Amino acid sequence: MPPPFLGYNPRVMKFWNKPEVSLIKRKPTKSGMTVLVIPDSGESHRLRFRWTWLIVVAVLGLCIGIGAVGAPLLLAASLQTNVSLFAEKTKLQLDKADLERRLGLEQGKVLSLTNKTQAFGQRLMDLENRLGAVESRAGVSKVERASVKPGGGANNQSIKDPFEMLSALDNLLEQSDSRFSRTLAPLDSTMRREAAIPAGFPTAGRITSKFGSRIGPRTGRLEKHTGWDIATNMGAPVRVTAPGVVEVAGWTNIGYGLHIVINHGYGYKTLYGHLSKLNVNVGRRVSSNDLIGFVGSTGNSTGPHLHYEVRIGNTPINPGRYLFLERPKFDSLELPR
Ligand SMILES: [Zn+2]
Repeated sequence: MPPPFLGYNPRVMKFWNKPEVSLIKRKPTKSGMTVLVIPDSGESHRLRFRWTWLIVVAVLGLCIGIGAVGAPLLLAASLQTNVSLFAEKTKLQLDKADLERRLGLEQGKVLSLTNKTQAFGQRLMDLENRLGAVESRAGVSKVERASVKPGGGANNQSIKDPFEMLSALDNLLEQSDSRFSRTLAPLDSTMRREAAIPAGFPTAGRITSKFGSRIGPRTGRLEKHTGWDIATNMGAPVRVTAPGVVEVAGWTNIGYGLHIVINHGYGYKTLYGHLSKLNVNVGRRVSSNDLIGFVGSTGNSTGPHLHYEVRIGNTPINPGRYLFLERPKFDSLELPR
C-alpha cells in the first residue's frame, strides 16, 4: 500500500521499493553495529563497529570521564595534604630550633654551674688546708687530724657531674664544720693561754737594773733582784701587760711599797712596785694595756722607777724576754677568764 499523500504512482512505488532504502532495515549483526554516513553531496559511507570495541571505547570513555573529574579532586586533596604536611614540618623545624636554642642555654648554665662548683670546691679545699693550720695552732694532735679523710671526696677530679660534685662538697662542708667546731675549744684555750702571757713594757723608761743577783742599792749587800727596774718620771702611767684580775692593790712593808699584783691566769702574774698612786682595786678585771697606777718611789726605792716582776705561780722569773714580746692582736677583753 503506498502512502496516502503520494497517491498511486508506479515511479514512486518503484522508488519506495528501492533496495538502498531496504538497507537501513537490514537485519543487525550480532558482532557489532554499522553507522551510515550520508553527506549532502557525495557518496555515503558505512562505518562498521564491533561491539567489543564499542565496549572498550565506552569503558575508556568512562575511565577518562572519571579521571577528568577525579584527578583534580585527588590533586586538590593531595595538595592540601602536602600543604598541611609542609606546615607541620615547618612548625616542627621551628620547635626543634627553639628546643636546640633552649638546650644550648641549659647546657651553658650547667657548664657555668660546673665551673662555679669546681671553683667553690677549690676554695673549700683551701679553707680545709688553712683549717689544718688552725688545728695545728690550736694544738689538735696530728693523730686526730689524720683521722679525717682530707677533702671529704671533694678533691676527686673524676667527678664531672655538678650534682655529684655538690654532694661531695656538702660532705666536705659537713666535715669542715665538724672539724671547725672541734678546733674551736682548743683554739680558744690556746689563745687564752697566749693572751695570759705578759708582753711588752708596762711603762716607758730606762732600764736601771735587771733580774738576778746584785749589790742592793740601799743595803750594799749581795741580794737577789726579782724583777727589772725601769726608771722614769714621777707619775708616769703604768699599764698592765696582759689581761687579768687585780689580786693585790696596796701597801706592803717588804720593799715594794705601794704595789699591784695582777693574776693573768694559766699561772702567770705580774707585779708593779714603788707606785705613787693606784688606779685599780682588788678584784677589778683589767684588759691588756689598761692604766693601773703611776710611777713613784715608795718602799725600798732610791728614786722614781717601776719595779716590774713576772711570776709563774708565785715564783719571780726573769721578765726580760716577756718585755720584748709583741702583744697579741686579738681583743684581750674576751680573754682570759
Ligand atoms: Zn727593783
